[in-house]
Amino acid sequence: MPKDRIKYLRDEINIHNYNYYVLDNPTISDYEYDKLFSELKDLELTHPEFTTPDSPTQRVGGISSGFEEYKHKYRLYSLDNTYNEDELRKWYERVQKEFTEPVELVCELKIDGLAIALTYKNGLFTTGVTRGDGIIGENITQNLKTIKAIPLKLFKDTDVEVRGEIYMPKSSFEKLNEESKEKGDKIFANPRNAAAGSLRQLDSSVTAKRDLSMFTYTAIIENGDYLPKTHWDSIQYIKELGFKTNPNIRLVNDIEGAIKFCKDWETTRFNLDYATDGVVIKVNRFDYQNELGFTSRAPKWATAFKFPPEEITTTLLDIELGVGKTGAVTPVAILEPVNLAGSIVSRASLHNFDEIKRLDIRIGDKVLIKKAAEIIPKVIKVVDSEIHNSLPVYTTPKTCPECGGKLVTREGEVNLFCENSECPSVIKARLEYWVSKEAMDIDYIGPSVINQLYELGLVATPVDLYKLKYEDFFKLENVKEKSASNMYHSIQESKTKPFSRFVTALSIRHVGKETADLLVNECPSIEDLKQASLEKLSAIEGIGDKIALSIYEFFHNDKNLKLLSEFENLGFTFENTNLNRTEELAGKTFVLTGTLISMTRDEASDKIKMKGGKTSSSVSKNTSYVVAGSNPGSKLDKAEKLGVIILSEEDFINLIGENK
Ligand code: NAD
Repeated sequence: MPKDRIKYLRDEINIHNYNYYVLDNPTISDYEYDKLFSELKDLELTHPEFTTPDSPTQRVGGISSGFEEYKHKYRLYSLDNTYNEDELRKWYERVQKEFTEPVELVCELKIDGLAIALTYKNGLFTTGVTRGDGIIGENITQNLKTIKAIPLKLFKDTDVEVRGEIYMPKSSFEKLNEESKEKGDKIFANPRNAAAGSLRQLDSSVTAKRDLSMFTYTAIIENGDYLPKTHWDSIQYIKELGFKTNPNIRLVNDIEGAIKFCKDWETTRFNLDYATDGVVIKVNRFDYQNELGFTSRAPKWATAFKFPPEEITTTLLDIELGVGKTGAVTPVAILEPVNLAGSIVSRASLHNFDEIKRLDIRIGDKVLIKKAAEIIPKVIKVVDSEIHNSLPVYTTPKTCPECGGKLVTREGEVNLFCENSECPSVIKARLEYWVSKEAMDIDYIGPSVINQLYELGLVATPVDLYKLKYEDFFKLENVKEKSASNMYHSIQESKTKPFSRFVTALSIRHVGKETADLLVNECPSIEDLKQASLEKLSAIEGIGDKIALSIYEFFHNDKNLKLLSEFENLGFTFENTNLNRTEELAGKTFVLTGTLISMTRDEASDKIKMKGGKTSSSVSKNTSYVVAGSNPGSKLDKAEKLGVIILSEEDFINLIGENK
């Protein structure tokens, strides 16, 4: 019955609006919410007799709470949205048919934060108000004054109302949640909720402590020196007034240009330090905007393309235990498969057992999961449901799921560990790491081959890999001459890999690829590593006391020393990294950002290191150069702010002399 379904959808959406706008605690993902909303819209279109003015489709979503109400001088609207390219084309057709001239569009990232309206009189900030329901918002001027990106005085004495999005950088959001976790305070599901919760503080000094910022994207100029005729020009004017605008904006001729912008950002957005949930596409000319007008809740001259969801809810079917190369036992969520950000997800990380306890995650729960590019999906929280209380509380395991050994805690670590060095899972995980891309990067050998080699009793340490004979590979399932030869040669050829890869592959606790690079810069041979004192190791930049101790202990352990001498007997030279190394870039630190065309970032990083330079993942005043590929992230902004030299890919190639 459409009438009943419409009622059901309205009630559901109203509950979700309350959770999202008032409690800052959504219980379904935005994608699922948008699906309910779009179903309601479609039903109301086909059954207009059931449309009522109080339907959520006729209103802008916000609800006021706690602050003084404030009637907006100019109404604020929401945006229509779609996840579908063809619907964008249809929207553009509707727009274009109203005009004879081609309609230019401006594409902007849709910042996932909170809309806000700021009023300036004679260039002075007077009032800041949330969007609320678009007609009445909340006056949060005092809180907004604590945000540095909001100028208290403009560069011009203009009377203007600007709109923009308040957001919390992802890095600050993670830090806030870490701190809240320690204090037992509220954990926010995502940066948008954290920004909303921080702005809604009745005590401005709390807001001031939160790292909030703002991108401004609209100006209504009441009295100024200039009246822009297009949205593009108004953005330039907004910058001249002293506001921060988002640099990732493009003027395009038509919808195909806009679709290209959307595609470009679908994955690149993950490099940004702020959350974006789509692209806003706006008609550029203001006279065209005026002609197109508004519906009851959104402009007809703009639309939002939403990126595939990063978050979704699903059911936790089981908790599996994984044992890593350090012996750490980690819980893995086995999920009812769902489509998330374009791929089917059936497993997700549950962090550690403390986290399961803290979030009270139980098998059978409905959980919210999240994925960002290249990052394993994570379980964020349990979604409130009636069944939760009837499910058994999860009990932390006491023994290793593989070998039955006792699990122990280690000081300063959140994980539980299996201490049995003979544990098959630990042995296999170390071997898998040895052959992995990050370590020795041995082609043709993956977890399944490692598992078979181990089960056949052929391999238990990395040294055994190098003792394998060509014939041995025929003992594996479905292996013929070609793959046996590939596997055999791939292993043997890895003996000449750079020394830093060998050090990485050793699985020394706390030593990953970056630390191994730092280490071999100072200790370029195995002898140097064996001889290095604890003081020398601690003095290496980027290696703290804890890591230094772990390295020192590794190279003073009889079992490890025996392993190293076996490698020596097998023909490993351990010093080949420095063969072609020069010192041209000694003392220079590079940060790489964006996508490079002629090489990957890893390759660029290797080239820098071969010339004696260093790379770092964050920009600071000690950075010598930032190499910016296409679609660079926030690192570029930071570099500009700090006055660090920015190199294009071409400049970089010239610098490293690869143009010759
Ligand atoms: P919206 O967030 O989809 O779009 C409108 C908003 O986009 C504007 O108000 C503005 O704040 C923002 N925006 C960001 N960048 C912009 C830019 N460059 N130019 C113009 N505007 C820009 O719409 P909404 O009405 O604010 O909220 C509805 C959305 O909120 C839903 O689509 C859903 O994603 C989410 N929501 C989720 C739940 C939930 O339970 N998960 C509940 C309610 C709402």
